[in-house]
Amino acid sequence: MLSEQKLRITEIFYSIQGESSWAGQPCVFIRLTGCNLRCVYCDTEYSFYGGKDMSIHEIFKDIQSFNCKLVEITGGEPLLQEAVYPLVDKLVDNAYQVLIETSGSRPLGRLNPKAIKIVDFKTPSSHMMHHNHWPNLNELTPVDEVKFVVSDDADYEWSKQVLRQYDLTRRCKQVLFSPAHGKLSPGTLGKWICRDGLPVKLQIQLHKYLDMP
Ligand code: SF4
Repeated sequence: MLSEQKLRITEIFYSIQGESSWAGQPCVFIRLTGCNLRCVYCDTEYSFYGGKDMSIHEIFKDIQSFNCKLVEITGGEPLLQEAVYPLVDKLVDNAYQVLIETSGSRPLGRLNPKAIKIVDFKTPSSHMMHHNHWPNLNELTPVDEVKFVVSDDADYEWSKQVLRQYDLTRRCKQVLFSPAHGKLSPGTLGKWICRDGLPVKLQIQLHKYLDMP
């Protein structure tokens, strides 16, 4: 049965969304276990291993216990697990607004079109740039968002070039430039964005400044 399909889950928690244009809103997070990448600046290495198996039915019951209709499915890399697709369908069918935070290394075409994709294409300093699955650009819709984590000048110049080459602002709702925590100051990145007049949003990871899980 569909609802008996299982996913490996690191954690489910309720907090304030810290990223994307949804930042600041209450949100339930489902963090799936496992990642096919090893970004240098990764801050969720604890999601690579461990976790517990939960059926879609059990996850859905957990989600219902929170008074919140905004749900983010993240990881790790959430699109590694086959049962993520029926989980998204179940949430969407029950009037949840679903955000999928993905590295963009896995094809996006199978996701329920009502789910909003937040695609974190990998910049050079991550050392994982070769995993970017560029055909995913064709799967972006006007509600989706694209994020670049910028560690230094080289990352910034690369992201700027991708932004222009693929006309990203036309393909999605929002392009986000986020400074890698502890590697580049938000002010420096903000100055570069202003200097070049880029049509992007500077993203600060709000959750790093909140005394919340
Ligand atoms: S894709 Fe995300 S979870 Fe995976 S290694 Fe990179 S930053 Fe960490």
